[in-house]
Amino acid sequence: MTRNADLFARARHRLPGGVNSPVRAFRSVGGEPFFTARAEGPYLWDVDGQRYIDYVGSWGPMIAGHNHPAIREAVARAIGNGLSFGTPCEAEVTMAETICRLVPSVEVVRMVNSGTEATMSAIRVARGATGRSRIVKFEGCYHGHGDAFLVKAGSGALTFGLPDSPGVPKPLADLTLTLPFNDFEAATTLFERHGDEIAGLIVEPVVGNANCILPRDGYLQHLRELCTRYGTILIFDEVMTGFRVALGGAQERFGIRPDLTTFGKVIGGGMPVGAYGGRRDLMEQVAPAGPIYQAGTLSGNPVAMAAGLASLALVQEPGFHARLEAKTIALTDGLQAAADEAGLPFSTTRIGGMFGLYFNRDHVDSYAKAMASDAAMFKRFFHGMLARGVYLAPSAFEAGFMSIAHADADISATIDAARETMREIG
Ligand SMILES: *Cc1c(COP(=O)(O)O)cnc(C)c1O
Repeated sequence: MTRNADLFARARHRLPGGVNSPVRAFRSVGGEPFFTARAEGPYLWDVDGQRYIDYVGSWGPMIAGHNHPAIREAVARAIGNGLSFGTPCEAEVTMAETICRLVPSVEVVRMVNSGTEATMSAIRVARGATGRSRIVKFEGCYHGHGDAFLVKAGSGALTFGLPDSPGVPKPLADLTLTLPFNDFEAATTLFERHGDEIAGLIVEPVVGNANCILPRDGYLQHLRELCTRYGTILIFDEVMTGFRVALGGAQERFGIRPDLTTFGKVIGGGMPVGAYGGRRDLMEQVAPAGPIYQAGTLSGNPVAMAAGLASLALVQEPGFHARLEAKTIALTDGLQAAADEAGLPFSTTRIGGMFGLYFNRDHVDSYAKAMASDAAMFKRFFHGMLARGVYLAPSAFEAGFMSIAHADADISATIDAARETMREIG
């Protein structure tokens, strides 16, 4: 028995499905997950000593590559002063100032411990500030596991066919309206009918939880206009896209100013960190400045802030995002060429440091088209790549992540592995 298999047997006995987050269990691709012993740059090594070129990057945080010395050293310095204080500390002020400088729509920000906490809190602010109850989300978008979002949710829930998780009260789910992403008409119609009841509209400006779907020209602007017209709070969930598709996130790239923004992943550099922020008049309604309650024992933790600040310092290096995007383009172009050679139905999407791979002849710009991709072929592709030492997200509905540590040689090795795999599965 391999150490991986042994660990998974033990894990399954004591953890639900053997994991602490569902997608890690490989259920949608079959087989068993590997256990990582060590990570460095673009690589993971499992407990049996196998090396993988990693395009998951801990699901987003590892934009500078695994175990980056600058982040590691910042954490070590912070640990020297203690793990948690429960009082204010300087690093959280610096973090807030950094976020507000990089993302100008954010005037005031609150730190939390995960993306889930950030999105749950943001809709509370939208509801508290407007006095309305309904929220709008989009098919295929994932905003963490808050009750309000587990209504036709994407990511894990999508993969596992739990569009409406048991445990989410029906009356709560009723308050969440779901729209098809990139459909202009559907949004207009919904607002014509319910606009006055909608507290907030939350959207992943690039949908990274149905693989990777880019907004059509003018679509985010359309949502901005509808929200402004109906007094609805526009929330950009940039937990994935923040600091990844551009330094200022998707809102910088598409030139939209949301009312509130949520962050996670890159902002923690691998530590559990999230944040939500936006318009001063809204955020100053959050306790203790205002009456909308939200709190956290470990929020703004000094060690987590140190890791996050070091991560944000790295992405601010001149040319970082241009270099990152060039890598993404090289990879997706190479994979497309390999698929064309093998005669497979295949298309890609990409922006900044994230990309989508679809076994689909069409360009995918809707959730329906993403769902129409060949999931069985993706499974064979995933396992073929894994066997060749390339780790892609173990689900056809997750975006891929590039890091600045992926060298040209890693990208060509990935394309070579894809060429072999595609010939095999074609
Ligand atoms: C990952 C993710 C979340 C949830 O963040 P967690 O830290 O896993 O709770 C929310 N929204 C988006 C867009 C995400 O990608």
